[in-house]
Amino acid sequence: MKQPLIQARDLHKHYPIKAGFLKADQSLHALAGASFDLYPGQTLAIVGESGCGKSTLARILTLIEAPTIGQLTIDDIDAGTNINSATKKRLRQTVQMVFQDPFGSLNPRQTIGAILQEPLLINTDLNAAQRQQQVLQMMARVGLREEHYYRYPHMFSGGQRQRIAIARALVLNPKVVILDEPVSALDVSIQAQVLNLLMELQQELDLAYVFISHDLSVVQHIADQVLVMYLGKPVEHGPSNAVFAEPQHPYTQALLSATPHANTDQKQQRIKLTGELPSPLDPPTGCTFHPRCQHAMPACKTDTPDMKERHNEISTSCLMY
Ligand code: SF4
Repeated sequence: MKQPLIQARDLHKHYPIKAGFLKADQSLHALAGASFDLYPGQTLAIVGESGCGKSTLARILTLIEAPTIGQLTIDDIDAGTNINSATKKRLRQTVQMVFQDPFGSLNPRQTIGAILQEPLLINTDLNAAQRQQQVLQMMARVGLREEHYYRYPHMFSGGQRQRIAIARALVLNPKVVILDEPVSALDVSIQAQVLNLLMELQQELDLAYVFISHDLSVVQHIADQVLVMYLGKPVEHGPSNAVFAEPQHPYTQALLSATPHANTDQKQQRIKLTGELPSPLDPPTGCTFHPRCQHAMPACKTDTPDMKERHNEISTSCLMY
């Protein structure tokens, strides 16, 4: 039985906000209570609108920030609230990240060879010839040719640049890759190619992916489990096929109904999300989704629902259940 590569329990992240003159300082609860296990070879999709807490969770998983509360273990190493720089250094090769904008994340003045060699130069004792050999092997694996080694990022298409970013993330042989909206900047036809490449590499290298997206149709084919977040809180979590077939939370139901290519079993009418996304600095009382929920009851304004397993291994936080 495989051990989880990531074990997250009740992760919270609070940011203190300095208020102005005569005002009390505030605290922004950017993440409130994320829990999950992620195994080698599996993909966890984290889905929600902007401001839902998915980027905060990504920063915690990539060790850029520590959680304020909660337990986090990555590859059997404690990466929680008291993580120190030595542990971060140890885990830096284990967890790598691919960003949404491949052009912005690649240095335009470096050749592809230099970009891909950099992580090896910083983190390994390989000599120049060994680094070049490893880079060329990784380039071939992601579908880049040998002659691309001496070219610059602006000479590539968006899809090829994302292949370069994937090669850079994988060149250190990580176990976990955080993919932050990795295909949202690409044309739909190219999206499918990059998703297929990611799935092939996952199988070949037994990688665990955390796939962050606002688009459920993109994650449907790649995710094993889905975590839906709203205003920093998880509202639904379960196996991908169960969540897509029978979404339990009204927010997930609304997101799915607005996803034209999602293969849900439910033939449902589009559920329109009314109202603006509230400010995380001043979240609604009770269930934070109540101002936009078509099933809201009087109790939803005062009572905070717990995240509990309700149906088909799906956990959800809603007072209807
Ligand atoms: Fe809607 Fe109430 Fe459930 Fe919140 S608790 S999702 S407001 S029905």
